[in-house]
Amino acid sequence: MSDLTRMTATEIAGLVAGGETSAVEVTRAHLDRIAAVDDRVHAFLHVDSAGALAAARQVDDRRAAGEQLGPLAGVPVAVKDVLATKGVPTTVGSKILQGWRPPYDATIVQRLRAAGTVMLGKTNMDEFAMGSSTEYSAYGVTHNPWDLDRIPGGSGGGSAAALAAYEAPLAIGSDTGGSIRQPGAVTGTVGAKPTYGGTSRYGLVAFSSSLDTPGPCARTVLDAALLHEVIGGHDPRDSTSIPQPVPDVVAAAKLGATGDLTGVKLGIVSEFTGEGAEPGVLAAFRESVDALTKLGAEIVEVSCPNFKYALPAYYLIAPSECSSNLARFDGVRFGLRVGDDGNRSLEEVMSLTREAGFGPEVKRRIMIGTYALSSGYYDAYYGQAQKVRTLITRDFTAAFEQVDALISPTTPFVAFPIGARTSDPYQMYLADLFTIPTNLYGGPGISVPCGLSDGLPVGLQIMAPTMADDRMYRVAAALESVVGTFTPPAL
Ligand code: GLN
Repeated sequence: MSDLTRMTATEIAGLVAGGETSAVEVTRAHLDRIAAVDDRVHAFLHVDSAGALAAARQVDDRRAAGEQLGPLAGVPVAVKDVLATKGVPTTVGSKILQGWRPPYDATIVQRLRAAGTVMLGKTNMDEFAMGSSTEYSAYGVTHNPWDLDRIPGGSGGGSAAALAAYEAPLAIGSDTGGSIRQPGAVTGTVGAKPTYGGTSRYGLVAFSSSLDTPGPCARTVLDAALLHEVIGGHDPRDSTSIPQPVPDVVAAAKLGATGDLTGVKLGIVSEFTGEGAEPGVLAAFRESVDALTKLGAEIVEVSCPNFKYALPAYYLIAPSECSSNLARFDGVRFGLRVGDDGNRSLEEVMSLTREAGFGPEVKRRIMIGTYALSSGYYDAYYGQAQKVRTLITRDFTAAFEQVDALISPTTPFVAFPIGARTSDPYQMYLADLFTIPTNLYGGPGISVPCGLSDGLPVGLQIMAPTMADDRMYRVAAALESVVGTFTPPAL
């Protein structure tokens, strides 16, 4: 394997900027690595070799012409298949969008291109980002590079696996209930969910619009921060985009890397460190808490009593929004169309298309959501869940009056064997037990590798107040400076 694929994005960008390697060389190394391992990992749904090499050539030409390049110019990036990419297949892991080539780029993809990053292709995901293992992808499961018989997390398992398998140094994910952080945790990589509204949803295929948050995935905290800076910031095309600059996450990551957390007060969410998590996860978490204390952080226990209602509230709010959002897949406007033989009514064609195009988990969510929104049940389900959302936000607000950031394990359990949780949806939903509260509140959260349990990665989650994304990067980088990064066994 070429050394270039082992490098961080920061290192690659430095070499490209200094003329020690070219973007084309870097891109070729990663395409070769994908060719060598992706038949076993299946991180990618689509590899755009020609597009990647063309983008890399452009970067090299710009450099040769003496242009000033951005901090990630020439660095390859893998993009979750939830973002629209002009002319490049975008399926959301669903048969219903098979063959769709969007006529436009998502804002995040535009920003990636403008920054001179090189898009390698689109990564596998649970259908419509609903799931925690990529097993609900209509195009086959992704394998965790740490153990190919285990899941890489989800819904963004492809992005996380691509990082862990050294197929890409950077990736994009989207986090509605944990789909960036949970795959990060179980693959030993870094995943950050920005403040809701801090990254644009324009061109992100919608699942649950009040929760969906695209964000950066990387192997180091600094790389994630650099990517966050490139993709973040106000977008007039997204009505919920926050009209403020991105907090200085890069400076915060650099500050954290000095390993000094003096004056930083962290709260352990007491509800998340009792039962409900595997002993190996709790052990790695506690060791990290000791490490953070040694770095100077003050650590206290904080109770967030309503967090225990987050999972049920999420599984009403997210399916409700999904049932509305997914109504647009009608067999008329995008992708699949079934039964349009001239003899069937429009309604029959829509019904046949949706029957054939959506997988079982997506159908389950549409049915739950439609039920929760139906007249007579609305107040008892959707309305009640919204009230719980307010209570959870109040828990966060009260906690952040006492501490700068909250910490917890990212997930209750490490990567589980493929097939272990598919027969019981609730067992799958539990993967996001600790990540969902942040989505309901809207604040940022990051997962950073903090140790191993029986040879499998464990993540530590840091949650910060809205628009204080920089705080979580500082703490994450500080922890990384003592625990280091984690390399899976060679593939
Ligand atoms: N696993 C959660 C779900 O299935 C979260 C998914 C996500 O963040 N996109 O809904």
